[in-house]
Amino acid sequence: MTIAIETPVPPCAHQPELFEDVAAVASTTSGSGTVAAVQERLAVAHRSCAGCPMLVDCLYRAVVEVDVSGFVACTTEADRATIRRQLGIEVTQPTLAPYGTTRLGNGPVSHEMVVAVRHAHPKDTCQQLAERLGCSTSTIKRHLRRAREEATRVEQVSTLPQRRTPSIEEVLDAFDALETSQFA
Ligand code: SF4
Repeated sequence: MTIAIETPVPPCAHQPELFEDVAAVASTTSGSGTVAAVQERLAVAHRSCAGCPMLVDCLYRAVVEVDVSGFVACTTEADRATIRRQLGIEVTQPTLAPYGTTRLGNGPVSHEMVVAVRHAHPKDTCQQLAERLGCSTSTIKRHLRRAREEATRVEQVSTLPQRRTPSIEEVLDAFDALETSQFA
């Protein structure tokens, strides 16, 4: 006998367009109906999430683990930022770009590319790095300045006292405190 286990499909998978960024929805609507149209779409998406069996897990991950964009788990990006502020947490995004990517064609030089070439040739001048990548010296300087600023930020964060990961109950309490959690 074969036992079929059904995996529930969340409402957002059935109606991806409904979960578009609210700003994107607003920019495609015009006239006096704009606010009402956005509010209506939000309310429908909110009701879909509210009835979703994955809501708690989805909310927790979107608040604590990954800074996703758009409307997720009854919350907008602003709502999730509010919850994180209340919980005193930040979500750091790992870079998805491969380290040391080579430049393809005449496209713009990526930040990761400049950092990788700097690591490979630590004694090169900015002019030499620019020649290696076929870009301007100012582009190299801009990316190296950004790399220094990011390194400083990481250093500052690492010196902050470590906070424990919030529990599901804490995230749900912060969510319940949102005015928009009563939206639908
Ligand atoms: S709670 Fe999450 S998984 Fe469920 S419909 Fe909303 S966004 Fe999709």
